[in-house]
Amino acid sequence: MTATENRTLHPVTNPATGAVLAEIPYATAEDVDRAVRAAHEAFLTWREVPVVDRVQPLYRFKALLEKHAADVAALLTSENGKTADDAKAEVRRAIQMVEMACGMPSLMLGDSLNDVAKDIDCKTIRQPIGVCAGITPFNFPAMVPLWMYPFAIACGNTFVLKPSEKVPLTPSRMAELLHEAGLPQGVLSLIHGDRIAVEALLGHPLVKAVSFVGSTPVARYIYATAAAQGKRVQALGGAKNHLVVMPDADMPKTVEAIIGSAFGAAGERCLAGSVLVPVGEAAGPLLDLLVKRTRALVVGDGSQAGVEMGPLVTGAHCGRVAGYIEKGVAEGATPLCDGREFRATGGGFFLGPTIFDYVTPDMTIAREEIFGPVLSVMRVDSLDEAIGLVNRSPYGNATSIFTGSGKSAREYSSRIEVGMVGVNVGVAAPLAFFPFAGWKNSFFGDLHAHGKDAVRFYTEQKVIMSRWF
Ligand code: NAD
Repeated sequence: MTATENRTLHPVTNPATGAVLAEIPYATAEDVDRAVRAAHEAFLTWREVPVVDRVQPLYRFKALLEKHAADVAALLTSENGKTADDAKAEVRRAIQMVEMACGMPSLMLGDSLNDVAKDIDCKTIRQPIGVCAGITPFNFPAMVPLWMYPFAIACGNTFVLKPSEKVPLTPSRMAELLHEAGLPQGVLSLIHGDRIAVEALLGHPLVKAVSFVGSTPVARYIYATAAAQGKRVQALGGAKNHLVVMPDADMPKTVEAIIGSAFGAAGERCLAGSVLVPVGEAAGPLLDLLVKRTRALVVGDGSQAGVEMGPLVTGAHCGRVAGYIEKGVAEGATPLCDGREFRATGGGFFLGPTIFDYVTPDMTIAREEIFGPVLSVMRVDSLDEAIGLVNRSPYGNATSIFTGSGKSAREYSSRIEVGMVGVNVGVAAPLAFFPFAGWKNSFFGDLHAHGKDAVRFYTEQKVIMSRWF
């Protein structure tokens, strides 16, 4: 009997039906220690492989991901619940990360200058840092791990990934494909588990860098704990994103963008619009159209054609979001659509979309991240007032403005204290070649995810001055 056969098994469920898809044992501190030591062993060889050779498995990984994209997306829908279209879009984004990391020979180029003094030349080089760890959330099981490991391993590091225990199947399948693509054993390993595995990673002396994506309290803890031990850390946290609509916005197009932002992926997105801020007389025409469109939204099993919004990830999370709706009513907000009225036919974790009007800054639904399909409307009289409202939020992940005026858009983009800004774009998600992170309580660290920041995060820079006699 092996050690794992005695372990408690934890179910992975299909949120649309409640059916158990798989059962997994969680890693112990000893399992993590073994994985990290193996990753360190692999690092000693992998860092010597020339970068042009290190990216070859990534090119083949990209081809395999393209070939299996539909299966990976279906697996993703089955454990996360998002619709087939959302899952396919996520896999596409994940593939773009691999494409970017394939450019590592150019991305790792240093600077050089000859004759900085008589007969002395100077250059900078980038070197890998060692074993890197990644801890990821449930809402993007295909994409978020790929913000991390393709870049880390192309830079010459080895990587230990601890994906969310709610959605372990998609990251496992993707790791299988990367190994099929010829990645040497030990360069990437996966450990499944909960905070025990995370603690073991944070405390391991051979782990040199930690990339985290998840909720703000955990991000703050990961940042403080790992940084206190001298590790490099980037910790992306939660969000409360505002969508500001000016009276001169194109209302039908704005409504479609808001629907996608607030209710896409059932609001389980760190870029989801959570507070709608109509300015002046934008409120009337906007809310008329928005409520009509929201009532017509097709909610159901994300694997079925035509479904626009799937279930929430677990029964517990669904209950938590319903609790926020109850609080909204109790604290005096006006429900325009109440997601609790949605009746699911199967055993899944469903809520319909909810919109609250006349939400005030003191209400819980205005302040806390809900991470579900609940949109709070906070009416203001001017762009200035909207900017003040958004800038008082402790979060600063993403925001959007909808307007026909370049002047308003420019002023908003410039004065807003938020990391990712959309102009007439509902979900301002930077592509692989741009950096991704928020401000304030939405991010702890310095270097952002993917883009050129990933190369800086996963390498150590060295300056070499040479003189030859
Ligand atoms: P979470 O914080 O509960 O979990 C994230 C990861 O941390 C998981 O792997 C989990 O096992 C681990 N974890 C959970 N509690 C822990 C603890 N006490 N100690 C150590 N590790 C712990 O987040 P989630 O529910 O999986 O994901 C949703 C959250 O992630 C939302 O807050 C969302 O805004 C955020 N998110 C942020 C971004 C971003 O780019 N800023 C992207 C995606 C998701």
